[in-house]
Order: sequence, then structure tokens, then C-alpha cells
Amino acid sequence: MAPRRIPAAPAVPTEPGRVLATLAVAALAWTAVLAGCGDATPVARRNVVVITTDTTRADVLGAYGSALGLTPYLDALARRGVVFERAYAPMAQTLPSHATLFTGLPPRAHGSLENHYQLDERVETLAERLAAEGFHTAGFIGALVLEPPSGIAQGFEAWTQPAGANQKGMRSPDRAASEVTDDALAWLNGTERRRDAPFFIWAHYFDPHREEGGYQSPEGFKQRVPGEALMTMLEERATSGQFPPEVAGRLRWFAEEWRGYAAAVAAMDEQIGRLVDGLAAAGLFEETVIVVAGDHGEGLMEHGELQHGVNIFEELVHVPLIVLAPGDAGAVLEGAALDDVVGARWPAGEMAGRRVATAVGLEQVLPMLLLLAVADEDADESLWTPLRKGAEPRPDPVFIERPHYTQARLESRGPKYTWGVLAGVVLGRYKLLDGPDGVELYDLVDDPGETRNVSRDHPQTVQRMRSLLNQWTEIHRTGEPGSGGNVSAERAATLEQLGYGGAVEEGR
Ligand SMILES: [Zn+2]
Repeated sequence: MAPRRIPAAPAVPTEPGRVLATLAVAALAWTAVLAGCGDATPVARRNVVVITTDTTRADVLGAYGSALGLTPYLDALARRGVVFERAYAPMAQTLPSHATLFTGLPPRAHGSLENHYQLDERVETLAERLAAEGFHTAGFIGALVLEPPSGIAQGFEAWTQPAGANQKGMRSPDRAASEVTDDALAWLNGTERRRDAPFFIWAHYFDPHREEGGYQSPEGFKQRVPGEALMTMLEERATSGQFPPEVAGRLRWFAEEWRGYAAAVAAMDEQIGRLVDGLAAAGLFEETVIVVAGDHGEGLMEHGELQHGVNIFEELVHVPLIVLAPGDAGAVLEGAALDDVVGARWPAGEMAGRRVATAVGLEQVLPMLLLLAVADEDADESLWTPLRKGAEPRPDPVFIERPHYTQARLESRGPKYTWGVLAGVVLGRYKLLDGPDGVELYDLVDDPGETRNVSRDHPQTVQRMRSLLNQWTEIHRTGEPGSGGNVSAERAATLEQLGYGGAVEEGR
């Protein structure tokens, strides 16, 4: 039978965001927590593959408007699935953000408020839930910050992680994307995997994370980054005021940082492509729900931060979120065989090409996955349900926050940072930040680079959004940040060795 052809969706995103008519929202919407397994028998089981792209800003993907052309595979996935144009990580840090993705809870509820707060074993994760539903679960991580003592491995039956040592003979904190894909495909095609059960694979790619000495990528990827398009992009950002003067005045020098970052993203993209192609080769593409989610972005000197973990501006918390659920069997994108890297090997999923403009948080992924993977009726309130009806999801406020560092740990990241709770809320076109340096309001439609604090121009909006934020922090009270976390001394020492400082600085 010839495959049904459907028109390809435009690859370029529409204007970010949309204006809200009202700020009156259901204040308790975010407290909805999924019930455990009911006694209804799920009607359908689909395999699940969750791909997390560490340190990946949304705007480095073609699917999110990048002109660099370095992510053909992720873009191909995006055209076949649903793209959430405004997805937010809850914190710009690896463990808290992954914990939110896998529990459906904000960090204040699941308790991992920083890499030094391990995820509590009593919290139910997606892997535990799917294992209880009979799935065979397997995790393949790219960095030891997520190794089992972090708490994020609960529920995974199969597991691999960086095993090598560095030049100094210490454990290597991370590994290349190719190794993650190698391990995931070996498990997928190997004899260990139970063929009578659906599977859940988590593949975590760490390549865009900066290492000592800069961003790393395999041979040849830096040359793929188009110099002219890169400079155009940086000049636009310098003009809009996103860089501090020392960067704006030395863009050519700074472009090397960006080139290194973009090359690492390109290398990761290729390995994600190989993983998804491996699924297709095994005949499993059309029986599998695929989610791609970023855990946080990277500052790259916008608003003065090179890496991540302190600020909560868009470059740090706006992440890719792509969901591809099996669609009509055999449907392929029109023109795909000509212009697409994967042609008809990756058929179109449900609602292929759909782009969602409403701001959403990573905690909203779990109910969507349970709906798609096990037809969980309790998950009917998920984002997917309105999409199926052709509507946008309800525009709930999305909350973001800085990790709860000790004062010493924050100050070790730079003398310019003021310690204290820094939290924010995104609602429609506005983003409000409230922290030790005061209140900031940004209009993300007029000023996507967050260069003009317009809080004085919109006192009522500030008041309403502050009130939402205060209600949220009241519901999820944690006290002042700074207990230092709940990890053992041994784990703290490991984090220190892996480059996630803080084990010794309290003594200073
Ligand atoms: Zn991360």
C-alpha cells in the first residue's frame, strides 16, 4: 500500500507567544498531581523514548528559528511531531529539571532544589510508574551528575553511564553522544530486552555542556558552523543589548565560544538522529512515543552569564520540547524524500507539524506521556487533550526559579550575584522576575531578549503576577535557600570532583 502523504508543516516558527485577554487563571492548577494506577485496564501500550538534551537552548534548533542549520535530525523530528514553542525548564540546572520532567512536579514539590539535593526515593517517577505498568525500563546517561546517588535512576532496570577515567585517573564526569546512542541501540537490539513488554528508554545527551577548557565536539563539527550566519546572529543580539559591553565590543573573539557550543549541539543532533533511525530500522518507530526535552539552556554571555545556573532569563530556561506520538500508519511528509535527511523512514506522527504557542512547563510532560503511552484516564487533563480538539492548551502560569544555593555556593559563581530566592512567572506575553535585586517585568513579544525592564509601565500586571508568584511560593514553602542540600558527604565530594563545586566552600 502506498503511504498516505500529508503536507509538510512550515519549518519556521510563528511569532512567539500570544497576548492573553486576562490574567485570571486557576490559581491551583499547578497543584494537580496524578493519581497512581487505577484499576481500569489500559487499552493500549506504546513504547516511550525520552531524549533529554542537556544545556540546549531552544533557539539553537532550526525548529525554533535558528539560521545555523546544525540540527537536521531534531528538525525532522519536529516536523513529524508537535513542537511546544515556549517550553520552560523549572530551574536552569540538570538534576532539579530532570526530576521535574520525570515526576510532573516543580522542584519545590519533588524536593530536588539543586544538584546537591538528591531526589527522594519516596517520590514516584515516570520510570517507576511505567515499570509498574509492565514496561521494561532503561536509562543511558551522558553525565555522572545524574548517576544513581542523585535519585533520578529510580525505576530503571537497565542503566549505563560514563565509566571512563580522565587523564588524572579520576572518574570521567561525562561521555560523548555516540556512546549514549551506542548503548541505547545495543540494548534495544540486544537479547537482554524483554520482547513481550513495551519499553521505556531514556537517553541523556550532555555534549553541549561546557567543560574545563571550553565546549568540546568531535573532529569536523566546528567547521560545519556557518561563520557568516553566526556573526549575523551575534551582531543582532549585541545591537538589542543582550550582551555586556565587554562581549559586545569583542564579538569576533566571542564567536569562538558560540562556535564551540553550536558544534557540540550539531554532534549531539547527529547521534539523536542515529538513535531514532535505529528505532526505525528495528521497525519500532511507529509504535513509540518520542519526547525530546531540554533540561535548561546556556547563557553564552547574554545578560552576563556564560554557562547556566544563576539567571532565569530566556536563554537559560526556554528549552526545546518536541512530542511525537504515532500517527496514521505509513503517513509521510510531502516532499520528505527530496528535502529531508530521513525521508520516509520516519513517518509523520499524530498532529504532525502542529506548533503550540502557549507557554508550558516541563512538569506538564508527564501527564501527556501517560496519556500517550498507557492511555491513563487521569491524564486526560494533559496538554495533549486540547490539542487533539484543535485548541491551544489553557494558558496557566509557568513558574521558574534559581536553584537554592547556599550563599557560598552562589558567590563562588561570581561576585556580582546577590544571594536569595530568585523566582519568576511567565504568563502570556509577560515574564516577571522577583529576587534579591528587585522586581523585573519583561514583555517577551516586544522584547524577546529581555533588555528592558517595563515593571514601572505596568504596575497592575506586576501586582497580579507577583501575587501569583507569592501564592505559589506559599503553597510550596521551602524557607530560605541555603541548607546545602541533603546529599551525603561522599556524594558531595563526588560532585566536587565532577566539577559541581560546593563541597568545601562552606568552610571558607
Ligand atoms: Zn543540564
